[in-house]
Amino acid sequence: MTLVDSHCHLNMLDDVDAALLYAKEQGVNHFLCVAVTLDDHPALTKISELHSNVYISVGLHPNELPEQIITLSDLLPLAKHLRVIAIGETGLDYFRVEGDKKWQQDRFIQHIECAKQLDKPLIIHTRQAKEDTIRLLQENDAKSVGGVMHCFTEDWDTARAALDLDFYISFSGIVTFKNATDLQAVAKKVPLDRMLIETDSPYLAPVPHRGKTNQPGYVCHVAEYIANLRGETIETIANKTTENFFTLFSPPS
Ligand SMILES: [Zn+2]
Repeated sequence: MTLVDSHCHLNMLDDVDAALLYAKEQGVNHFLCVAVTLDDHPALTKISELHSNVYISVGLHPNELPEQIITLSDLLPLAKHLRVIAIGETGLDYFRVEGDKKWQQDRFIQHIECAKQLDKPLIIHTRQAKEDTIRLLQENDAKSVGGVMHCFTEDWDTARAALDLDFYISFSGIVTFKNATDLQAVAKKVPLDRMLIETDSPYLAPVPHRGKTNQPGYVCHVAEYIANLRGETIETIANKTTENFFTLFSPPS
């Protein structure tokens, strides 16, 4: 059995080596370490150069550096790096935004353009903005590169729209939370060949570690939970989500 953590922030952990060792013991053998600002790039490239099973992304999270404008020429030079297999995390997050949201939408569109120019998939974060997120993906032909709706917490209609755009749906530890019944219903319905799993560590540790610092090794609990939910073995969920990860991101060997 082999697992992938398709979305983590290794650079935010206290001890990366210890976390990767623990992950290996749990059967987690590949990692996508996701950028939240462009300043993350040196730290991320360093981790991925030290660990051949750690791949990275380039992007500016919608919550970071509000109203700061970034363009293709900021993104492209970093995104061309050999270890960069995805663009993001990008998307829309209206939770903390008062008033004008155009800066966030413009920034999102620049990320989609970058992904299309380099033919690398997108990592999408969306919160309280599902309609605009899907609309901008449609209007800007994100379907031509595809990507993943990371840490998915939306309804089935949004999942359906993302699947129609050839996107994958990624579930985090949130799916294991007792009150997440709507999300669990979605996780039951998403086709197995379009599903990914992640920790989003250091945030959102799954049950039975809820409330603690999350780490990539805990992705096994997400796999186990979804396996039980769907009446599958954990091996099936592990192998299928690993295969999906390699299909979507085609990481360098
Ligand atoms: Zn994240």
